[in-house]
Amino acid sequence: NRKPFVGGNFKMNGSRAMLKEIIDRLNTLELKNHVEVVISPPTLYIDQAHKSVREGISIAAQNAFNCTKGAYTGEISPEQLKDVGVDWVILGHSERREIFKEADDFVASKVAHALKCDLKVIACIGEKLEEREANKTEEVVIRQLQAIAKNIDDEKKWEIVVIAYEPVWAIGTGKVATPEQAQEVHVIIRKWLAENVSEKVAQETRIIYGGSVNDANSPELAKQLDIDGFLVGGASLTEKFIKIIECFI
Ligand code: 13P
Repeated sequence: NRKPFVGGNFKMNGSRAMLKEIIDRLNTLELKNHVEVVISPPTLYIDQAHKSVREGISIAAQNAFNCTKGAYTGEISPEQLKDVGVDWVILGHSERREIFKEADDFVASKVAHALKCDLKVIACIGEKLEEREANKTEEVVIRQLQAIAKNIDDEKKWEIVVIAYEPVWAIGTGKVATPEQAQEVHVIIRKWLAENVSEKVAQETRIIYGGSVNDANSPELAKQLDIDGFLVGGASLTEKFIKIIECFI
């Protein structure tokens, strides 16, 4: 009974013209109520996206800070995102963790502030290649999840959290996790939620997969019991995104 969720993370790609093309294509989709679609353009283009996207498709920011306002040059607050009609934010993406050195606790503080503002959160976790090879996948993923979970004190807030499992070695590499590899980690995450948060949260929280998802590999991944959708990077900029969404229609 978890509603599938497909997000498109455009990262730092696109232009006004390209965004128009992507949205025109998405607006032709016959979206019934079976799948939640969220697109995440660069912040500059959020307003354009918000004004042109059809009903039933929501917008996510790619980041947000952990304060309401103040002297934080270059940052944007959850309150400001809500003010311009943004419903979601992606937090803890591996590119933020790696390139911008965002640590577990910092990510967790941003999750807490976003949730306090009722901004819905796509919380990203995932291991690096060397961690997988050292058999540390579970340890890393649970460490990242635990940091986030300990900052969610009100169990009801889990209703507006989606967990994105994105193995770093699969992001932008064309090297997708096999359906079995992804399913295995999704089960570990769900089990941890059951034992450390609640059975209800474990059953109801969507756990989506990200990392080189495309129209060819999405049908098999989508069949896995604990894969509730995708966070799509590169392919979300192309017509393949429609096919990926259609896995759930
Ligand atoms: P790719 O689909 O380009 O591998 O990116 C995945 C991702 O990072 C989504 O957040």
